[in-house]
Amino acid sequence: MPYEYIPDLLKSKQSKIILLIMDGLGGLPIEAGGPTELEAAATPNMDRLAAEGTLGQITPIRPGITPGSGPAHLALFGYDPLHYEVGRGALEANGVGLDVNPGDIAVRGNFCTLDPNGLISDRRAGRISSEEAMPAIERLQSIQLPGIELEVRQVKEYRFAVVMRGEGLHPQLNDTDPQVTGKAPLPIRALEPSAQRAADLFTQWVAEAQKVLADPLTGKANGVTLRGFATDPGLPQYGDVYGLKAACVAVYPMYRGVSKLVGMDVIKFAGDTPTDEFAAVEKVWDGYDFVFIHIKKTDSKGEDGDFAGKVKIIESVDAALPKLLALNPDVLMITGDHSTPARMKSHSWHPVPFLIWAPATHRPDFETQFGERPCARGGLGTFPAVDIMSLALAHAERMNKYGA
Ligand code: ZN
Repeated sequence: MPYEYIPDLLKSKQSKIILLIMDGLGGLPIEAGGPTELEAAATPNMDRLAAEGTLGQITPIRPGITPGSGPAHLALFGYDPLHYEVGRGALEANGVGLDVNPGDIAVRGNFCTLDPNGLISDRRAGRISSEEAMPAIERLQSIQLPGIELEVRQVKEYRFAVVMRGEGLHPQLNDTDPQVTGKAPLPIRALEPSAQRAADLFTQWVAEAQKVLADPLTGKANGVTLRGFATDPGLPQYGDVYGLKAACVAVYPMYRGVSKLVGMDVIKFAGDTPTDEFAAVEKVWDGYDFVFIHIKKTDSKGEDGDFAGKVKIIESVDAALPKLLALNPDVLMITGDHSTPARMKSHSWHPVPFLIWAPATHRPDFETQFGERPCARGGLGTFPAVDIMSLALAHAERMNKYGA
């Protein structure tokens, strides 16, 4: 249980919390002494919230550890990722709406291109579009194996997810992507004796996949690799742990997946801009105590090394913010899951700027702008990401005192 003392401290209160995550928010200056992406961005709305509320920095996993987005989100939700391990297959499958229950196996798949000798010539099948991949997806969906249930769903472009359901399945299986071209996909092996049945079944499934993908209509997608075999990790649920009815507004499947695994309702909506996402929040606002909003493109621009692009995304979030503030949340937290400095073109270990704004309860510090430097000086100091949920509950006046 994340913070087993929290459920006993909860008190009922009609208050609402928003967690706004800009993925990979933390950055670095390009030149010594220069601004970071967040500091370079014109963010009048966030600056006002920073002036009224409290700033700090959060450490995603542990100091010096560069996290993936999955574990980094678990930490934001209050689950220590070093304790709760969630396989990517379960995240991805959940994210595209496939049910993954205890005993099911979920796995992520990539289409790849195999040469006439069965060796991989392109690990992503030429990065085919979602439309181009559809015929290949349909062929995978036609595969049936005796005694088990199979579901295949497209994730995006060359990526898909598979869920296998049946008796005696265990997910301790190796990934089959050899990570290089010129090699054949790796055979599936059971990493524990209990996983042998699953290994045999997935080996059969891959053989069937190869057969049905030989169809010329599937084009470059004539092979598959599988990775991240996993089952439902049985995480404690948000309603039980925090007493919150929680919703997730996210564009990308993995973030919807991790939210669903902790018991959030995933909200369906059209569009992919911050304005679209905030409009979706507005629509469901009355029905929830807690809304998690995920903005992906800050991270994508950081990974591309596009400093100016990341600045623009941050500015677009700020520009849309009045829509969110008009809902009058009791607590608004704005932060990221980790840093993705454009200068590094990758995730990094640096602590992440954090802002909490709660008009009834926040204690102002000396800072008046949202940025890495003000956050490093902010009133909350530097603290673990797993602590933000108890902080939010306290500011939402949803917790009793500890002890007499
Ligand atoms: Zn991330």
